[in-house]
Amino acid sequence: MRAEIISVGTELLLGDIVDTNAPYLSRQLSTLGIDVYYRVTVGDNTARLADALKEAIGRADIVITIGGLGPTEDDLTKETIAQVFGEQMVADPASEKSIRDFFARRGAHIAESNLKQALKPETSIAIANSTGTAPGIILEKNGKIAVALPGPPGEFIPMLEDSVIPYLSKKSGGAPAIILSRTLKVAGIGESAAEEKIKDLIHSKDPTIAPYAKSGEVHFRITAKAPDKDSALEKILGMEARARGILGRCVYGTDNDMLESVLVRMLEGRGLTLALAESCTGGIVSHRITNVPGSSKTLLAGIVAYANKAKTTLLGVPEGMIRKVGAVSPEVAEAMARGAAERTGADIAIGITGIAGPGGGTREKPVGLVYIGIKTPFGDLCTKNILGGNREDVKWRASQAALNQLRMHLIEHGKD
Ligand code: AMP
Ligand code: MG
Repeated sequence: MRAEIISVGTELLLGDIVDTNAPYLSRQLSTLGIDVYYRVTVGDNTARLADALKEAIGRADIVITIGGLGPTEDDLTKETIAQVFGEQMVADPASEKSIRDFFARRGAHIAESNLKQALKPETSIAIANSTGTAPGIILEKNGKIAVALPGPPGEFIPMLEDSVIPYLSKKSGGAPAIILSRTLKVAGIGESAAEEKIKDLIHSKDPTIAPYAKSGEVHFRITAKAPDKDSALEKILGMEARARGILGRCVYGTDNDMLESVLVRMLEGRGLTLALAESCTGGIVSHRITNVPGSSKTLLAGIVAYANKAKTTLLGVPEGMIRKVGAVSPEVAEAMARGAAERTGADIAIGITGIAGPGGGTREKPVGLVYIGIKTPFGDLCTKNILGGNREDVKWRASQAALNQLRMHLIEHGKD
């Protein structure tokens, strides 16, 4: 089966918002073995939407629209679908009732325009909206299927997953294959080096493995096609094992894992506490660690000591040391970590000092130079890192390096 996706909304064309729904839908359709050859974006305009719908049903079995189901004048997706399929708009009593209930529950006044959302093309079925007021629709006619989904992601995703995926999965029952993907996440090695290492695997046709460079890490997406989910997963796991065999400890996780969540889990598992002393990263590492639910058991404090004076008063870095070797130096990175550990009582501390740029670089200490000092009960370490990119990139990459270097250090001194 072949589907085409039409995202509707002038705000998408203007670039005011990024279309996150269409890629999400593409991924879901691929797991059902439904091909997507075209993805179109049109503004809130009846004539152009009608053209896009006609073209889509000319070349696909299913057309799925996203957006334009709201109560306002510019929401015209359902009306346009009705027009293209030669249908009248009629009121759907169940939708009308749930819209009235939705407003009654909130004690809010219901406007005439809200009831417009209960209208649907006559032979279509309405799909309940569990998180908003605009119902979706499914219309089957002349061997084609049109599905209309709401634009707000908080409504779009539940409706897609609860109603539309089960419906499409039944429809595509005879599909020859499903496509499944899994992402392997790698840190501490550059994209080309990582790709070079696994170059023999990259030629594989099924499952495929493809690198995606991210800032400060590399993702490898493994994709397999198989008659069912279990055999696709088996293929994926086989490829994953081979890639892990080559990339070793550089692989920090899969799919939804993040460096910070993996690190917090490791520290939590060993009952170790952490303190951070950040200069050039301005608190990014603390921010990332505190994004992990439950990290309060692990992180005792994050100190942003930006000025030289703050490094002395907040962390006890000797003034003379800064004067002698400079704030961006291995000595100061180590002293920051030591100070953070002493002042907070944490088992482990990281000190980060560097030059994020664009100014402030010299020949000896160029922009992107970052020292990371790590103090642990099983040995200290200090690394010199030369990071590329603009100011924001350097800050982010320094946070990646700090998280990953501590992760690696823990692996070397533990059971992981
Ligand atoms: P609509 O259903 O067209 O009235 O859209 C309502 C809101 O949903 C828009 O203002 C956006 O914030 C959001 N939205 C609409 N379409 C998309 C999309 N394709 N991806 C992400 N958000 C969207
Ligand atoms: Mg809209």
